[in-house]
Amino acid sequence: MSHTERTEIAVIGAGAVGIACALWLRQRGYDVTVLEREGIASGASFGNASTFAVHGSTPIARPDIWSNAPQLLFSPDSPFVINWSRLPRLTPWLIRFLGQCNKKRFLKNSGTLAQLLGDTYGGYAPLLEETPDAQTLINRRGCLYSFRQAANLRAAHGDIELRDKMGIHQQRLNEAEVAELEPAMEGHTKGGILFTDSSHLDDPEAFIRALSAPLRAEGRVHIASVTSIKPTGQGLSIGHSDGQTLLADKVVVASGAWSATLARQVGDRIPLDTERGYHIEFDLDNVPVSRPTCPVENAFYMTPLQGRLRAAGTVELGSIRDPANPKRLRYIEQHVRHILNLNSEPARTWLGFRPSLPDSLPVIGPSPREPRLIYAFGHQHLGLTLAGATGRLVADCLAGQQPDWLKHCSAGRF
Ligand SMILES: Cc1cc2nc3c(=O)[nH]c(=O)nc-3n(C[C@H](O)[C@H](O)[C@H](O)COP(=O)(O)OP(=O)(O)OC[C@H]3O[C@@H](n4cnc5c(N)ncnc54)[C@H](O)[C@@H]3O)c2cc1C
Repeated sequence: MSHTERTEIAVIGAGAVGIACALWLRQRGYDVTVLEREGIASGASFGNASTFAVHGSTPIARPDIWSNAPQLLFSPDSPFVINWSRLPRLTPWLIRFLGQCNKKRFLKNSGTLAQLLGDTYGGYAPLLEETPDAQTLINRRGCLYSFRQAANLRAAHGDIELRDKMGIHQQRLNEAEVAELEPAMEGHTKGGILFTDSSHLDDPEAFIRALSAPLRAEGRVHIASVTSIKPTGQGLSIGHSDGQTLLADKVVVASGAWSATLARQVGDRIPLDTERGYHIEFDLDNVPVSRPTCPVENAFYMTPLQGRLRAAGTVELGSIRDPANPKRLRYIEQHVRHILNLNSEPARTWLGFRPSLPDSLPVIGPSPREPRLIYAFGHQHLGLTLAGATGRLVADCLAGQQPDWLKHCSAGRF
């Protein structure tokens, strides 16, 4: 780009959400420019569990956190950890999070998530029509939750009922049925749930890259790190790392876990933090599972990618600045090796930053202080799933046609 350029809409971030927003806006006829610091799908969108988790309507902030807290926090086998040295910084977020852990908020947030999830495939459909290469990466074989302990399956009854009420398709499976579906789980399961409408991608990065082809072909994606957003009479002036500026009529902030810093540029203080998560990958000729399979007690998915098995998940609260915690990688490795009887060494590991708000809902919609700035971030465990739906909502917001329920995702709700 030359020294100062102009665009109708700038999108900051080229993860799943930014790319889907840019594509929706492009399809609605806007002149769109994407600014991305590192590369397409280089953030959380790179290494996730690669699932379209249309069943993911139960928020992390849930009432039984209170009774499960001792086990979650102090068991050496917990998939959830806090970096206690970061507690002072985390405390305001945690207080808000605990404020959501009651039945009323849980049901309300769950309803909003279900509303968003209902447009998972519909939100992607118009984008995939133009990008058949991306379409071929989707495998519709469902996702499986497998429970090691029968008591935990019984305890999941409330969630199952809630998903039933929300119209999410699920099949309860006994021990033998899980083993029939995924023979590798035999001996490690007391039963499970198959989410028939969920699906997985051969590789999320390849999918987002394929999806972004029309934007790249038109030269709409630029590598630049945004450092400032300043409201002016002519539009929003975006400063980026090389000292250049881009003037935009409207700006969409889709910068994942880094979005709150950009929102502060116009005075919005949004309680966005990160739930850190990990993956390890094994290169395998024969991947022993055929669909994303989650040993629920361990809170990660084992997902078959092309020629690889990716085990991705767990939650670590700390800081976006902290390096990877080797204990967390070992936790996943030990469990996945044990369950799938793997002898080979992991080929790759990864740490990623889920962008998470305390109520497990994203922020989608205009800034309360600067209506020319539209937010699209905070999709926590579901950003890959919800990117298409979010793109549609952002385009609707710009046309002044957002649905009433979207107020539950407003930036002003905190
Ligand atoms: C272990 C793990 C497993 C997961 N599994 C799943 C799953 O199976 N299904 C699912 O739906 N979700 C899953 N998620 C969550 C999902 O990955 C995220 O919600 C999603 O990737 C968020 O997408 P995003 O586009 O908002 O953010 P990101 O993918 O993080 O993209 C943000 C982009 O903004 C760029 N950026 C940041 N700041 C700037 C700046 N100042 N200037 C320019 N560019 C900037 C970054 O470089 C980055 O590319 C998982 C996450 C983890 C960690």
